[in-house]
Amino acid sequence: MSCFQVAVLASGSKGNATVVRCESGAVLVDAGISCRRITQGLQKLGLKPSDIAAVFITHEHIDHVKGLETFIKKYSIPIFASAGTWRGIKQTLPRIDLRLCSRHVLAPQTEFTIGSLQVRSFSTSHDALEPTGYIFRCKGHTFGYVTDTGYISDLVKRELDGTETLVLEANHDPVLLKNGSYPPALQKRILGTRGHLANATAGHLLAGLKKPPQQVFLAHLSQENNTPELALSTVRSIVKQQRPEAKIQFYVTSQEEVVKNKEWEDYHEQNIFE
Ligand SMILES: [Zn+2]
Ligand SMILES: [Zn+2]
Repeated sequence: MSCFQVAVLASGSKGNATVVRCESGAVLVDAGISCRRITQGLQKLGLKPSDIAAVFITHEHIDHVKGLETFIKKYSIPIFASAGTWRGIKQTLPRIDLRLCSRHVLAPQTEFTIGSLQVRSFSTSHDALEPTGYIFRCKGHTFGYVTDTGYISDLVKRELDGTETLVLEANHDPVLLKNGSYPPALQKRILGTRGHLANATAGHLLAGLKKPPQQVFLAHLSQENNTPELALSTVRSIVKQQRPEAKIQFYVTSQEEVVKNKEWEDYHEQNIFE
């Protein structure tokens, strides 16, 4: 297997969940769509919930934890989140019974392994209690996940440098946001350092990495203040201008459709014909 296989089941302010697979197995990042939709999504990928080795939660906002309450009732899969995120989950989902789940608390900036999958967590900048991004490493390949961050710190930039495959937020276009229907307070929240990442900021981040990734999923696109075409063209043109030598395959994620990388499609084809 070359890079990580990635399938973004859903991405955006209405729900987020991503399946990441490597030779060590499969994990889920965020469970922000219904449990039913998660299991149906897995089924379409040829997976069962029991194939998921662990779930990693980025933060407690409902679009990242919506399916968790039912998921932990049905499946005994270890769930990882920061201490602050666990506190936040109890606020977001007041009826959740956390005694049902195998709950793992991640200290900030931790590194650990699950089987042969190496996991690193790092802090992001968002209006949640202790938001987190993740890096996974397996057999020399690296995958990164960062959404829901208003700002990319030098620390996060260092973490993301050298990732081969990256899920990166490209939330909004500031002009569309300013001219759109969102009330001023919400606009301020989104544009703030603890809000969401603008298309151009995502582009500048990629262009500024010493070693840009080979594959980038543009994620958490606003349905009001962005379009898939605009996110892609903005990010692509910044990278092209500033790092013309960088060869990045872009995928634009969607709220409704599953978006898979080439590695996942290739694997699937091989298995159909075997
Ligand atoms: Zn979100
Ligand atoms: Zn959020």
